[in-house]
Amino acid sequence: MGPSVEDHAGAVRALKAQYQALPRTEPVRLAKRTSNLFRFGRADAGPGLDVSAFDSVIYVDETERTAQVQGMVTYERLVDETLRFGLMPLVVPQLKTITIGGAVAGLGIESSSFRNGLPHESVLELEILTGDGRVVTARPDNEHAELFRSFPNSYGTLGYALRLTIELEPVQPYVRLRHRRFDNAAACFAALDELCSTGRDGDARVDFLDGTVFHGRQMYLTIGTFTDTAPWTSDYTGQEIYYRSPSRRPIDYLTVRDYLWRWDTDWFWCSRAFGAQHPLVRRLWPRRYRRSDVYHRIVGFDRRHGLSARLDKVRGRPPQEAVVQDVEVPVRQGPEFLDFFLDEVGITPVWLCPLRLRDPVPWPLYPLKPDDLYVNFGFWSSVARRPGQAADFHNRLIEARVDALGGHKSLYSTVHYPREEFWELYNGPAYAAVKGEYDPDGRLPDLYDKCVR
Ligand SMILES: Cc1cc2nc3c(=O)[nH]c(=O)nc-3n(C[C@H](O)[C@H](O)[C@H](O)COP(=O)(O)OP(=O)(O)OC[C@H]3O[C@@H](n4cnc5c(N)ncnc54)[C@H](O)[C@@H]3O)c2cc1C
Repeated sequence: MGPSVEDHAGAVRALKAQYQALPRTEPVRLAKRTSNLFRFGRADAGPGLDVSAFDSVIYVDETERTAQVQGMVTYERLVDETLRFGLMPLVVPQLKTITIGGAVAGLGIESSSFRNGLPHESVLELEILTGDGRVVTARPDNEHAELFRSFPNSYGTLGYALRLTIELEPVQPYVRLRHRRFDNAAACFAALDELCSTGRDGDARVDFLDGTVFHGRQMYLTIGTFTDTAPWTSDYTGQEIYYRSPSRRPIDYLTVRDYLWRWDTDWFWCSRAFGAQHPLVRRLWPRRYRRSDVYHRIVGFDRRHGLSARLDKVRGRPPQEAVVQDVEVPVRQGPEFLDFFLDEVGITPVWLCPLRLRDPVPWPLYPLKPDDLYVNFGFWSSVARRPGQAADFHNRLIEARVDALGGHKSLYSTVHYPREEFWELYNGPAYAAVKGEYDPDGRLPDLYDKCVR
């Protein structure tokens, strides 16, 4: 049972008082148990705002197909609640502990994004604790419309989402997967474009679409179609590993819940860095710890203490540059970006996910073009730096190429743009206007300072 509307209102009053009591001289941060950010600062930097009373679903309206949810509810909890009604959020990011507030303030994407856009595009109303300590309800058509539109990609620098009304869509119990293999990028991106525009794969409807590029330019597009029955279902939370399945099982079936979390068990493929994919280690690694948040905590500890970096030095290995990014490139530039990426950076696998804005009007702080189909490229690893290369050599290379191709880069990880370039890309004037309105004293950090510095 989630909190009642009255319980939530009480929690909002208490949070407002807590915010007012925080020292004004220090930056504020959310005191949350989990995070999916990839900028690892000091864990205890700045006073924390305790938002633990905002982690639940208030109610699901089955008839209207909407839900009232608190800002820090994780998608894992949200999906468990909505599936009980045969419904799901329009876009469910792959990592279980991503919260709805984090996905809306920081962008999210998944394999339904080619038809449903990004998570913030199915938000109908946002209750926000603003930087200046007010609690406002922002909608696309009220006096806080500008805040509503500028909230996506503001990363908690305008305020914090406390309650959201979101749209839901019906599900069927199973998802049938078809993995189609391609050996050249032009054919792969052409097929992706076609699948998105027609919404059909032969006789089958395309409900979900994503893809993976493996070493040696083996590419797979994975088409997901809801079904009421399944001849069998696979389980990738045990000994088998989902990302290896496209080459082994061209047709596959998962329950809808397992489909939504197919990438979480191994954090895509990133669990291999901890040995969790080795058969022996995997058997010993408790099932409940095969989760992205566990791996995220391990990486956070390592980065904060510089353990791997020190070990590399002792072993005489070249220093590594972490390249953990998600970028969006227009589909027609997909083959060019992929060629560049595989030649100059060389990380594999690479995740592909098509997206098209649902809204006909662009969102100010992340100005993707409505109607254009983009492809998200996700790559999460590190690259050896050659002598003379700057510490952010590959990250800068990627930023430059993404800009040249008319793409955009998500801000959840390291960002290397100089200030002016950053504000050109992320609409500095629009941000300044709304920041001035809702956080004139700068109690919350500025977006550039938060993401880059
Ligand atoms: C390896 C990796 C892969 C990823 N892949 C994907 C992906 O495939 N699909 C996808 O959708 N996303 C992906 N993400 C990004 C993820 O969705 C974003 O980082 C998201 O912001 C994380 O949300 P969180 O709830 O964990 O927030 P946190 O990590 O806790 O916070 C992220 C930022 O959002 C702010 N914030 C958090 N909650 C709120 C709130 N209620 N109101 C306002 N601001 C808030 C915080 O201040 C912070 O700046 C990936 C991240 C990583 C590290």
